[in-house]
Amino acid sequence: MQERKSDFWCVVSKRIVESSSSEALTFIHTDASRLTYSLLRALHVNRVKLNTFYEPLIANFHTEEYIRALKEEKPCTFFREDSQPFPGIYEYARLIVDGTCTAADMLIDGVDMGYPAPVTLFWQGGRHHAHADLAHGYCWLNDVVIGINRLQERFPRVLYVDTDFHHGDGVQAAFYNDPTVTTVSFHAFGDVFPFSGSETERGEGPGLGHCINVPIPSTVRLSDREFELLSMPVLEYAFEIANPDVVVYTVGADTVLGDPLTRGYNTTTRAICNVVQYLLSRGKPLLLLGGGGYEPTSVAKMAGAVAETVSLGMVPDNDATLPVTDRNLDKYRPHVQLHTQRVYDDGEGYRNKRVKKVEEILRQTLPEKARKM
Ligand SMILES: [Zn+2]
Repeated sequence: MQERKSDFWCVVSKRIVESSSSEALTFIHTDASRLTYSLLRALHVNRVKLNTFYEPLIANFHTEEYIRALKEEKPCTFFREDSQPFPGIYEYARLIVDGTCTAADMLIDGVDMGYPAPVTLFWQGGRHHAHADLAHGYCWLNDVVIGINRLQERFPRVLYVDTDFHHGDGVQAAFYNDPTVTTVSFHAFGDVFPFSGSETERGEGPGLGHCINVPIPSTVRLSDREFELLSMPVLEYAFEIANPDVVVYTVGADTVLGDPLTRGYNTTTRAICNVVQYLLSRGKPLLLLGGGGYEPTSVAKMAGAVAETVSLGMVPDNDATLPVTDRNLDKYRPHVQLHTQRVYDDGEGYRNKRVKKVEEILRQTLPEKARKM
């Protein structure tokens, strides 16, 4: 298989790894950032350094009052309980915006260099919950929205895909009336943060039909195969109505079984790699963002498996291992495979029930003509 590293770039930043070491970020970022940084280095992906001149773009989405409050680091109604400001928060959130915008600009540069479908990855990006004047879900500035706005200077039509365990509410809200950005979010639904993302949320005004939600009942734990049965027809339909010039994908490593916050579905990293492989097959410029994930080794493995899927043009084998040159290899032992492996088997009866559930979700989500699998 031909490796395709030449049109694939990863934005990596030691500064972000360092600014993630604040105590307030321990749970969400610190170890995951460190492991991901060293794994991507060991995989020899093309690395791009962060540009740090995108700050003016923040005000195109977030309100002036909100930006001021974030800079002042004072708790107020803009900050929900899980996302209080802390010393250095603005600098940290701004660097994430810089990373996503650097990756967006690399896509534009890649097309200018003559590559029809370049791919860029920025794993710390994907803070999809932040609203114009609201921080919640560990998201303070919405780098996804700001990155999409940047991409639209060159690529008019955008397809945004989000498979993070949680609904991509901030991105949805930003483009709810906008037919040029089609959003599709697969997420756990029910008693799960941010408690939005029903299939009845379909966009408004000229944007009606350009918002697709695929709510997965929080009691249903899909396997890799079942996630594929669910995601492929939806993505096919999304491409049809979006007719995109560029695709932005927030991955979400919190889908993996055993995530300490979400418990995940019954999936491994392979479920997400299948989505990446499908997106690659559509031949459009593709921006990959990491999104959430709270088990550091799973987060890093997801980043590595996604990067390898892009580099190889195929999902890595189940027995592929982490590179021996990764200086953090010991942190993964004894599980040195690239993919996460853990799944549970609850028997044929439950599997059949889940496949029926997938069919039911597809019936709710897609028009009949799009459901032919
Ligand atoms: Zn999440």
